[in-house]
Amino acid sequence: MHDEISIISSEDRHYSIDKSAEILNLHHEVISVDKENRKMDVAYLSKTIDEEIKAGVKFLAVVLNMGSTMYGSVDDITKITELLKSKPVEFMIHVDAAFGGFIYPFINFENKMNFSNPHIVSFTLDAHKMLQAPYGTDIYLSRKGFIEGVLTEGASYVKGQDCTLSGSRSGANAISVWMILRAYGSQGGIEFCHEIWERTNSLCDELDALQVQYFRESFMNIVTISSPYISESIAHKYRLVPNCHENPQWWKIVVMDHVTPQIIASFLSELSEYLTDSFALNKKAVKTELFSEHL
Ligand SMILES: *Cc1c(COP(=O)(O)O)cnc(C)c1O
Repeated sequence: MHDEISIISSEDRHYSIDKSAEILNLHHEVISVDKENRKMDVAYLSKTIDEEIKAGVKFLAVVLNMGSTMYGSVDDITKITELLKSKPVEFMIHVDAAFGGFIYPFINFENKMNFSNPHIVSFTLDAHKMLQAPYGTDIYLSRKGFIEGVLTEGASYVKGQDCTLSGSRSGANAISVWMILRAYGSQGGIEFCHEIWERTNSLCDELDALQVQYFRESFMNIVTISSPYISESIAHKYRLVPNCHENPQWWKIVVMDHVTPQIIASFLSELSEYLTDSFALNKKAVKTELFSEHL
């Protein structure tokens, strides 16, 4: 039974998926992403599923991204569900909406990553990302009837018993999330999402004008700039997040409340100056090269 289950996730998954696979001692297949849109490569996924079935796998736990940590990328639920349905294997989908859950569905009204898809059984959302709640305010949403599978009846002294791995934790966290949501109100929350989304749109328009290479998922507030287009000193000054600290290839901006239009303007002006200078420097280098060749 155990080796008949595999976890499938994307190259852009959160590292916690690897942790869970190791804790559960389950086989884990990582699907590469299309480098243009950073969505799971469906052809690669199809090939992998065929191989898994051949190896005797009967159940797939598929983890999809709604806002990957570094890029904010969102997997294509429609294509992936269609593909999975066409294969002789049972599957369930979990959506990792830790980063995107509190913005993406409020901006993209066409969003199909929700419980209307009968194959989606659960979601995770982090209130300590977009909602700026204190750390440790993760939310796990499960389709009715699925959480009972992990109910620990041994917790007889706990009213309602226990469905968690971690056990007792602070109720203050839940209250803080509730307070933040109440303070926004549903309309206020949507307006806030739209405001930072518009701010992200104007940032991207300016980056386009500067011909900067970056990745951005349309309905997200994350902009990930390719490292040749930014200096480390600008990245550090504005506290952008590197994809890795050793040798960063990408620097991420998360447009939030504190990322004001003024800060964005001063960032863009420094970036423009840097790009003009490095362009001039490149031209000079080419000239010197030509000149020395001449000699
Ligand atoms: C932040 C994040 C998580 C959860 O990590 P925490 O350690 O709970 O903050 C999971 N998935 C994604 C995509 C994330 O961005």
